[in-house]
Amino acid sequence: MAERLQKIMAQAGVASRRASEKLIEAGRVKVNGVVVTTLGTKVEPHDHIEVDGSPLEGSQKHVYYLLNKPRGVVTTASDDKNRATVLDVLSDVTERVYPVGRLDYDTTGALLLTNDGELANQLMHPRYRIDKVYVAKVKGIPTNDELKTLRQGVVIDGQKTAEARAEILRTDTRKNTATLELTIHEGRNHQVKNMLKKVGHPVLKLHRERYGMLEVHDLVSGEYRALTHNEVQQLK
Ligand code: URA
Repeated sequence: MAERLQKIMAQAGVASRRASEKLIEAGRVKVNGVVVTTLGTKVEPHDHIEVDGSPLEGSQKHVYYLLNKPRGVVTTASDDKNRATVLDVLSDVTERVYPVGRLDYDTTGALLLTNDGELANQLMHPRYRIDKVYVAKVKGIPTNDELKTLRQGVVIDGQKTAEARAEILRTDTRKNTATLELTIHEGRNHQVKNMLKKVGHPVLKLHRERYGMLEVHDLVSGEYRALTHNEVQQLK
């Protein structure tokens, strides 16, 4: 049941309710990594609360999972069409985790999920330049000029995409398809599909094989694992 933040803080022995309100107003309290200064804010039992950077006694600890996302699940926590979500896949995770960024319904591969809001916000910031490596099967076989365009940036919705890496891994001349490896640093909506469509090669299949240094080739589709302490430190 949701309770007022100052009540939870007082119950945890941080300070009286009144003094807890002062801490909140002073910007010293974070909920899921985000500073909260509104006194009416309600929190759920699974929310992660920190005061001056220290987790509240009994407050949930941070957890980090790497999922090899299967096709046919959405990355949002709930879906208006009632489709399965990635949270349904993480069936034995009790903490309230959420995905860092999105993968489309039909895209597979590396997806990080955590309840560490601060790290999630940091990783999603474009300045952070996390490598996202995609393997895309496309219609047609891109020419060298088209690959160059992908690398230098294509204009989508009036904005040029940042520099990327693009290589052909294999081609199938009989079926007239190619498989490319594309590395981007941004996370715009449907970015890879839009980039490839723009150069005339619609995506038939898309898989993210790496997010930062996190690779999913040791996980079968739908499988997930907790990150090691070292991996978490490297992301930070
Ligand atoms: N780019 C896309 O087009 N789709 C994804 O799911 C991820 C990146």
